[in-house]
Amino acid sequence: MSVAVDYYGTLGVRRDANADEIKKAYRRLARELHPDVNPDPVTQERFKEITQAYEVLSDPEKRQMYDLGGDPFAAGGGAAGFGAGFSPFSDIMDAFFGGGASRGPRSRARRGRNATIRVELDLSECAFGATRDLTVDTAVVCPTCSGEGSAPGSHPTTCEVCHGRGELNQVTRSFLGQVMTSRPCPGCGGFGTIIRMPCPECDGDGRVRTRRTVKVRIPAGVEDGTHIQLAGEGEVGPGGGPPGDLFLEIVQQPHPIFERQGDDLHCTLTIPMTAASLGATLQIQTLDGPATIDIRPGTQSGQTIPLFAQGSSHLHGPGRGDLIIHVTVETPVKLDPEQEELVRQLARLRGEESPPGRFSPGEQGFFSRLRDAFNGR
Ligand SMILES: [Zn+2]
Ligand SMILES: [Zn+2]
Repeated sequence: MSVAVDYYGTLGVRRDANADEIKKAYRRLARELHPDVNPDPVTQERFKEITQAYEVLSDPEKRQMYDLGGDPFAAGGGAAGFGAGFSPFSDIMDAFFGGGASRGPRSRARRGRNATIRVELDLSECAFGATRDLTVDTAVVCPTCSGEGSAPGSHPTTCEVCHGRGELNQVTRSFLGQVMTSRPCPGCGGFGTIIRMPCPECDGDGRVRTRRTVKVRIPAGVEDGTHIQLAGEGEVGPGGGPPGDLFLEIVQQPHPIFERQGDDLHCTLTIPMTAASLGATLQIQTLDGPATIDIRPGTQSGQTIPLFAQGSSHLHGPGRGDLIIHVTVETPVKLDPEQEELVRQLARLRGEESPPGRFSPGEQGFFSRLRDAFNGR
């Protein structure tokens, strides 16, 4: 962009014109030269010139730079001329003409809606992934008219009201002088064309409702509330527009044994006092099948036994969570006389047979262990 342009001359103002004079000069010229009033290319070029001049002279910083012989479009990133990024242009248009430059007819084709369906999975399917054939009620492109909306052998015709422009311009007088406004054409609804013979299958919508089956692969590691986006698997839009997306919302069914927290699984294992005391080898169920675990002698209620990498797969990245077994020691109830005698004998041998009040809080950690066990720790 050459700096040799005479912006003052373009707007027809003196070099010492104040902001108000510059604005008035620009408004007067803009009304004359606006493309909607005067669409010929020479006038449009001139309109661009006065708008550019106004952009510089209405901005004190740019005006000063221009006065000093600099390039006002070099600074501030506004050097793109009249491309898409030239916002003062459209700002001024909007301010003067209430709605900017001509937008042309709008397309009948619009993007289809997104759809969401819920998929119920059990814990194992969430942890390891699953494949499902899902039945979705959706809209597809009308096979009769291929989305155009016209009956076979016919096509949309150009609207005679707006001659295909989709909008009508109106010149009214206001305090600014003549003002150009545009509104959607009532003859064609703004589309610029009219479907005189709508397709009998879709009534001119360009799409038909149908039920189809989608085979989806659900990745390992999803959980309750996970959304999976299947791009382009939603409904097609009106007028043969592109399809929206299909979202799967995962619903994880509760498991009778395992409770999931993140990718870790938790379960409770109740063992008899004797096994806790003497130690034992037990078989338990995991998501991967039966597993053998060792209960160490002296295991306390509330202790946990972790089985590493036996939880759910991570959704993002490799590896798995853990399976955490929470041990509860069951104190025997309803001892028969022989069992009771054995327990009393054990208590005597361990010096634990005692009058009431022997175990005071804190002593041997008995009460704190009891509390931990109660709280499930
Ligand atoms: Zn059709
Ligand atoms: Zn029209």
